[in-house]
Amino acid sequence: MHEMGICDGILSSALRAAEDAGARRITRIEVSIGELTEVVDEALRFAFETLRRGTMADQAELVVNLVQARSECADCGAAFRHDRFDPKCPECGSYVVRLTQGKELRIDAIDAE
Ligand SMILES: [Zn+2]
Repeated sequence: MHEMGICDGILSSALRAAEDAGARRITRIEVSIGELTEVVDEALRFAFETLRRGTMADQAELVVNLVQARSECADCGAAFRHDRFDPKCPECGSYVVRLTQGKELRIDAIDAE
């Protein structure tokens, strides 16, 4: 379950940022997760609930924005959504495509007080 490691990274960054800002507790952490990262939302939440115990994010809410996988065709320029197994252009059938989103793994916002 790689969600533990990912969540650990998210939580450490959030805690560091909140400490630097002189906050006493974190109320909310918002993250964007690309669907190609294969992070399972439920597993990430479980990891979060386990790892936040005893930290200043103990009561924090975790908001996950799932980012769909999208690519752009190098041959015809079409932009399209796809799943992780079939990044094929629906317009011309080309497999020469460039991923434009879907591998995000970032913290969008940290609310602390
Ligand atoms: Zn195309």
